[in-house]
This record gives sequence, C-alpha cells and structure tokens, in this order.
Amino acid sequence: MKKIVLLAMGMVSVLVAQAQNEQVKQNPQSSEIWTPVPPVITPGVPGPTATGTTAPSDAIVLFDGRNTDQWVAIKGYAPSAWENTNEGPLKWPVTDGVMYSTKGFSARSKQEFNDFQLHIEFKTPEKVEGTGQGRGNSGIFLQGRYELQVLDNYDNPTYVNGMVGSIYKQAIPLANPSRKPGEWQTYDIIYTAPHFNKNGLMTQPAHVTVLLNGVLVQNHTAIKGTTEYIGYPRVQPHGKGPILLQDHGNPVGFRNIWVREL
Ligand code: MG
Repeated sequence: MKKIVLLAMGMVSVLVAQAQNEQVKQNPQSSEIWTPVPPVITPGVPGPTATGTTAPSDAIVLFDGRNTDQWVAIKGYAPSAWENTNEGPLKWPVTDGVMYSTKGFSARSKQEFNDFQLHIEFKTPEKVEGTGQGRGNSGIFLQGRYELQVLDNYDNPTYVNGMVGSIYKQAIPLANPSRKPGEWQTYDIIYTAPHFNKNGLMTQPAHVTVLLNGVLVQNHTAIKGTTEYIGYPRVQPHGKGPILLQDHGNPVGFRNIWVREL
C-alpha cells in the first residue's frame, strides 16, 4: 500500500513538472524587450587635433575651447574657502582651445548637477617642475565637495590616496595609467549623488566610477564625505552641486568638458 502511494505521488510530481514546462515554454522572442527605446544620440567624432573628440549630441558642454562663459571664479583651492564665493567671470586664459588654471582662482561651473556623466581632458605642464603633490596638481571637485585628483604621476611618487585617479585622501586608484607630462589625458566619470533624509542623515553615499585614459581607476567607489586636507571626511547634507576645477598653483590645461545628466 505504501509503495502504491509513493508511486502515485511520484507520477503526480512528474505531471506537475511537465505542466510547468509547458507553461514556461519559451522561444527566442519571449526574452526580447522592445520598449522603452533608448534615445538616439550622435556620439562625438574626432575633431581638429587641438580640440580632441567632440561632445555627444545630448551633452551639456561646459567648455568647447572657445571661452569660459560657463564658469565663475572662486578664490583659493580648498572647498572650505569656496563656499559661497563668487569672484565673477573666470579669467583663466584660453589659448588654442585650452583653458589653463591660473594661480589664485579656481573655476566653478555655473550649472549644478545631481547624477551625471562627466568627460574632461587635461594635460599637466610639459616642463616638469616640483615633486609629489607639487607637480601638475589640480582636481575635479564633484558637486563642489569631492575631489577626484589631477596630478602628474608619471614617474612621480606620492601618497597613493592622493595620486591621480584617487578620491583625494579617501580611495586609492586601481591603476596608474598616467601619460607623460604635456600629453592629453582623459577622465570619464560616472557619479551618483548621495541621498540624505530630512534630518540630514546620509541614507546612501555618493558613488563614483572613473576611467583615466580608458582604464578603470575607481569602480563604483562609495564616497565617505567631503574632501579634507587635514582630518577625515565630513558628511554634509546638500542638493545639486557644481563641477569645480582646482587651481593648485600649477598651470594645468583643460579642454573638451561636457556633462550628461543621468
Ligand atoms: Mg588637487
């Protein structure tokens, strides 16, 4: 009797499995998704030698080689000094499609952003001067607070959480794909802003993925807080923020700067 019951149960389970297989029987089309269709955009194309690759058609262009109209000047090079400062139009010189950081003033984009993709090209001075942090130093402050370091690290050692590709004093880059001083280098950055609750507590940190010269140097890195030269990151609730380009006393050239909001 027991055997008959077990046999019957076995047959039932085979039948159920067969029925399920019938139900989920699939063809190639059943796993295809057709909508929504991603927007069609025109990617950048190689431009004249001086300007690099052009921006894709849906990008917000912050610098196209002509003028610094999308930027204002701010005093100094540390975020604390930049808060609430606006020294008027940015007077960084623009030569042959390149704008150069100039002593005493950093650059703040007029537009502010939440989540974004940022493309930017830079070159550190061809004439090598200084060592460590004193050589080709600049930086890209995401939302005006979190520094992705720009530094000439071609055969120029420094503390690794302050080298090019680092989130300054927070995250060491995965590699050092630096080009030689004076050669153009590219940063492609994907950034998602932190979230804060109504009490100002951070419920989700900012994340950043960075390619330097096409090589992954930050992989969905969580940002702990503000960039501090002395001490540790601070959590500071905020909304949209600008892109800041740091002046650190070295004339670093920038070109082809564009953002796509995400
Ligand atoms: Mg810097």
